[in-house]
Amino acid sequence: MRVLFIFLDGVGLGSDDPAINPLARVELPYLQGLLGGRKLLATSAPYIGESATLLPLDASLGVKGLPQSATGQAVLLTGINVPKEIGEHYGPKPNPAVAKFLLNGNLFSQLVHSGKTGALLNAYPPRYFHGVDSGKRLYSAIPLAVTSAGLKLFDKEDYYAGRALSADFVGNGWRDMLGFPDAPIYSPHQAGNKLAELARQYDFSLFEYWASDYAGHKQDMNWAIEQFKVFDDVLQGLCSQWDDEDSLILITSEHGNMEDLTTRRHTDAKVPGLLIGSRKARTEFATGLVDLTGICQRILKIISP
Ligand SMILES: [Zn+2]
Repeated sequence: MRVLFIFLDGVGLGSDDPAINPLARVELPYLQGLLGGRKLLATSAPYIGESATLLPLDASLGVKGLPQSATGQAVLLTGINVPKEIGEHYGPKPNPAVAKFLLNGNLFSQLVHSGKTGALLNAYPPRYFHGVDSGKRLYSAIPLAVTSAGLKLFDKEDYYAGRALSADFVGNGWRDMLGFPDAPIYSPHQAGNKLAELARQYDFSLFEYWASDYAGHKQDMNWAIEQFKVFDDVLQGLCSQWDDEDSLILITSEHGNMEDLTTRRHTDAKVPGLLIGSRKARTEFATGLVDLTGICQRILKIISP
């Protein structure tokens, strides 16, 4: 089995209130089709359908305070209840206490040790590497896990060669924000096709989407809605090229944020555990899965049964 993990930063399962929750306001035909007409809301989970399963996953993990990115992502990447171990939710970037858990072994390093292939499909711009090399930029949890496993972060060359995807899926950021007017650009549907093509090359691949958390912090309803319209088309393009028989798609988050725009802070909402694939694979993955600590081991087990 292969697994594609689409990590959506800061997306919880919120209320059916279009005044505060972009996911209650926007129509997402493809995603809602997967969910039997339901929206991505707290009232929709749990759901087990023809081709998708939606579980509500606890991100608070018995630790008081609001879940944060470094500890939440470290849980996803290690299966360890890191906030409980260090006594707090911490973020956005890992401090030494959080980093220790990631450096001790993580999803990527365990894949490498078992002879499997893994990749982070995001392409990083030159200024990202300059920031890291000069010590001005700390790795967030996901690139820290990838690099500590001896895997490479994809760069501008990889992006231009079609070996990696833009963090916004379509590539506008490379042209408009990063100053590369000749950077490849995709329609959302094409970006979804590309995601399928890239994911097929690895036993495990991860794509990190962070703009959802950013829109939550900015309390920007329109931006959040536009993002999810793009995501819906990406998902359709992805699933049109996807083979359910030997592959599973997992979409989840490490904490809520964007689903409640009354606050610029994170929320303690349950996060979506959305699985797309064969009923057998979804059942195996979903059984007993109630919080973020269960993700890492299930990914490893389904890849190397
Ligand atoms: Zn955040």
